[in-house]
Amino acid sequence: DTAPDVLSLEPADLAGVWPTPAQTAHKYSRGVLGLLAGSAEYPGAAILTATAALSTGVGMLRVLTAEPARTAVLQACPETVPGEGRVQAWALGPGAPEPERMQAIMHQIAADAAGSTAQDGSARPGSRVPPAVLDAAALDLLDGPLAFPAVLTPHAGELSRLLGRLGEPAAREEIEAAPVRYARRAAELTAAVVLLKGAVTLVAVPSGPVFAQSAGTPWLATAGSGDVLTGIIGAALAAGFLEGASHEDLPRMAELAAAAAEIHGLSAWHHHPDGGSPRRGRELRQGPQLGHEAGHR
Ligand code: AMP
Ligand code: MG
Repeated sequence: DTAPDVLSLEPADLAGVWPTPAQTAHKYSRGVLGLLAGSAEYPGAAILTATAALSTGVGMLRVLTAEPARTAVLQACPETVPGEGRVQAWALGPGAPEPERMQAIMHQIAADAAGSTAQDGSARPGSRVPPAVLDAAALDLLDGPLAFPAVLTPHAGELSRLLGRLGEPAAREEIEAAPVRYARRAAELTAAVVLLKGAVTLVAVPSGPVFAQSAGTPWLATAGSGDVLTGIIGAALAAGFLEGASHEDLPRMAELAAAAAEIHGLSAWHHHPDGGSPRRGRELRQGPQLGHEAGHR
């Protein structure tokens, strides 16, 4: 297998990539995101993911989490809507929500994608469905190719566990030494976009270029930071796929995920003592850290 091209979105690219509401937009035409995040132990994860999605472009956020995370997020984000209803995208997994709920939602999206719920009972293969961003506990439910379009957001430890379940075990250290290769392989095995989080965040599709985003700083290495990224990606998917998505849309989903990673990184810059520009990222990308040069192909 050959090494993929590695591209990066720059801050100047974001306006052209990010979904912009039409002048005549209303809340439904800006995208509704369904969120299942948080638990009794980690109610804050639901607040972090919800706040991030509401800050980056959803028209409405529906929260499906059980109590007490549900009340926590409704109090922190009063614009949030509780309960079921139509959505344009899903964000599942931060803060250890109930596995059965996540599994049920994923089964329903997969069934809709397969067309098995067509009104007249006819098969409609390749139906467009709400795409999903799957993070944290949702990743632990995956064991093969996904039947619906999704963005997976593992860090190296989560990717190591996922690759083990996919039958191609790799230690976290091996992934960190050749992240382009493992992100790409995971995308192939899951038929999904794989966003591998780290000092440089990589976004891979089963075939096509890999994005490497490095606006972030070590100030992002803090509990809850990944939950925020999930919310930003969810907002982009909801606003970007108002008519649903299929596997053909994985390249556009990857572009949105890369833009989300860049926005997430840039948002951490005001914590940096020099308050400067994200030049560190460019230095990082030029180094051997991505492991896609000779020897890692
Ligand atoms: P999580 O591991 O789910 O909490 O996500 C951590 C987030 O912080 C991801 O978006 C990482 O890419 C980002 N991050 C972690 N460490 C660094 C670092 N050293 N430099 C830049 N970003 C980082
Ligand atoms: Mg996380």
